[in-house]
Amino acid sequence: MTYSTDQKPKVLVVDDDMAGLLMASEALSAAGFEVIEAEDGQVAVEQFEKHKPDIVVMDVIMPRMNGFESCAAIKSREAGEHVPILMITGLDDVESIQKAYEAGATDFVTKPINFYLLPYRVRYMMRSAKTADDLRASQIRLGKAQRIAKLGQWEWERKTDHVEWSSECGNILQTKSLGNKLSGFLNAVHADDRSHVAGILERAQSDDSRFTFEFRIAKNNEEDARIIHVEAEPESDTHMVGTIQDITERTNAEEQIHNLAYYDLVTGLPNRAHLYDMISLAQARCAKQSSKFALLFLDLDHFKQVNDTLGHNAGDLLLRQVSSRLTQAIRQRPSENTVNLPATANPNTEVIARLGGDEFVVLVDYVDRVEDAAYVARRICQTLSETFNLDGNEVRITTTIGISLFPDDGDTADTLLKHADVAMYHAKEQGRNGYQFYSQSIHQLALERFAMERDLRKSLETDGFHLEYQPKIMLKTGEVAGLEALVRWNHPERGRVSPADFIPLAEETGLIVPLGEWVLRTACRQMVEWIDAGIAPFIMAVNCSAIQLVRTDMAAVIKETLQDTGLNPAYLEIELTESLLMQDVEGGIKILQALKDLGLHVSIDDFGTGFSSLSYLKRLPVDKLKIDQSFIKDLTTDPGDAAIVTSMITLAHNLDLTVVAEGVENPEQLGFLRAEHCDEIQGYLVSRPMPGEDFADWVDAHNAGERKAA
Ligand code: C2E
Ligand code: MG
Ligand code: MG
Repeated sequence: MTYSTDQKPKVLVVDDDMAGLLMASEALSAAGFEVIEAEDGQVAVEQFEKHKPDIVVMDVIMPRMNGFESCAAIKSREAGEHVPILMITGLDDVESIQKAYEAGATDFVTKPINFYLLPYRVRYMMRSAKTADDLRASQIRLGKAQRIAKLGQWEWERKTDHVEWSSECGNILQTKSLGNKLSGFLNAVHADDRSHVAGILERAQSDDSRFTFEFRIAKNNEEDARIIHVEAEPESDTHMVGTIQDITERTNAEEQIHNLAYYDLVTGLPNRAHLYDMISLAQARCAKQSSKFALLFLDLDHFKQVNDTLGHNAGDLLLRQVSSRLTQAIRQRPSENTVNLPATANPNTEVIARLGGDEFVVLVDYVDRVEDAAYVARRICQTLSETFNLDGNEVRITTTIGISLFPDDGDTADTLLKHADVAMYHAKEQGRNGYQFYSQSIHQLALERFAMERDLRKSLETDGFHLEYQPKIMLKTGEVAGLEALVRWNHPERGRVSPADFIPLAEETGLIVPLGEWVLRTACRQMVEWIDAGIAPFIMAVNCSAIQLVRTDMAAVIKETLQDTGLNPAYLEIELTESLLMQDVEGGIKILQALKDLGLHVSIDDFGTGFSSLSYLKRLPVDKLKIDQSFIKDLTTDPGDAAIVTSMITLAHNLDLTVVAEGVENPEQLGFLRAEHCDEIQGYLVSRPMPGEDFADWVDAHNAGERKAA
């Protein structure tokens, strides 16, 4: 109800008593009201409709339609709902007063009316009606504002767990049935957030401190999920008041701002700021685990040309295609050399960032060998050298990469990037489409390893390997127990390369699989030859690498080799190192059992250097333990080693295993081992590893010597 100052307030006076009507009208007119009159209830309703007065003064007892009926009729109209109605009742007529209120009257006066005071009364009623109107309007405005702000409010009595929700709450939480308990909205909460929210509500029952939290509301589609923010604070000892607000848009906007700040617009890749963050994370992690990471600084050669000749759209398209090829190239990394990734390594921690222009940086994490970084660089150069199709235009580019390593080449993001950049320029000078490490010595090392790998591959194809055999003898009888096949590589330029150097490389590159199969076949064939030649049948031991067991079905390979060469499995022994078996005990047991089922012998090589626990050693289906030579070396001078060897021998015998000592070089060691009842020995004291053609003579000489000794 609005009152303009130049308009008189309208009052409808209703009375069937003409004198009363007149007196009231006079008094109100004189007080500045515009008066509309009605002589009964029926007319009053009609006049109300017509004039929409600001207030009604009405007698109770009237013909046709009495005051109660008329009052109720006016109140039931839209315009009448909030109009104040003053009823005139008889003095002491308590029943009428009651009925008047029931009919919707605002107040009453009793007859006889004091007409002098009536205008004051009417004015006062109008004033409070206006206050009520203002309040209503403000509530409506608040409601609108809350709807626009997607804000709801609630009040909670903690003891009874009774809640009053504002109407907007239902809309925000998208439920019609919130109920009167605070937990009423839990149904609306996203299943993943529900227990978290329930926990907060439970704590709030007993803890009256302020709290805020956020949750999502369940939607059919994850992308449509709304994010709700709740704030609550205690209003009294018993009550809490709070708000709930849908902050989805704000959160999305924040996310967008974050994306703008941390990602490159063209490719969607992390930008420089993001890269710096990732570098500090990698630094922290690598410092803790004393591992390395590499930064590859990429520059696309001739990118400017593409931009200049085909336009910026084509340039952008090229950058996007480059970014997706980079992503793929990085993902492939684990395929070739995962074996050496530490258990904590997550191959997905690589970051590809675009610094702007045609400059990209790849962070390669967990680089425990420098070649790991070089592998990635090579693959990137290769994948980016393939033809790009930019809306029908075929384009070829080349890439130059500079590599810096943490911590070798710097310990801040700036230094590492600068050094990778320097290395990149260096690589450009060397001719495009290549990579270069910042540190020359590291670069040299990576090149050497690659060269070795290439040579290994070549030697495999060209019969560049041969075997030597080292005998083992039984201590009790002095008889030959068997031999171990040891692979030898005669490098075309370097000459003899120790297996200790090339076996790890063969393992890292996977070349150990074909190499190991060649060793196995050659050793088996040799054994068959010796048996056929009447040289006593010994057991031929062949070393088998972890990689072979993991990558191939060793049992099947051995079975086939035995068939092809015709060797009786009783003459074959496979040596495995314990580290391999420790990685996956259950899997290891299965593999060993499959080997044993073929009828061959299995021994644990280099025993004592791994971490075998007694409890599982018992379960391993093996025949032999070979005590690592590092324990034998100082056996006679180091009491610690002596004690270890003694207990290893006891342990092996308790488990019913044959025990072999490796690396026995002198008679003192032999004496100790004999006294401790070691079963077999192997080492320079007996013989160095020898070429196959020397073996027959060696056996003869050995047997002759033994006979003499006996
Ligand atoms: P391993 O299996 O423990 O072989 C024993 C190593 O000790 C051999 O070294 C052998 O020459 C050396 N050795 C034997 N007696 C003595 C001694 O009295 N004193 C000293 N100081 N050394 C002795 P090699 O031939 O250099 O082989 C080193 C390792 O390379 C082998 O250790 C084995 O783990 C691996 N390896 C050799 N051939 C193969 C193979 O065909 N396949 C696989 N997977 N690994 C192989
Ligand atoms: Mg061995
Ligand atoms: Mg050994």
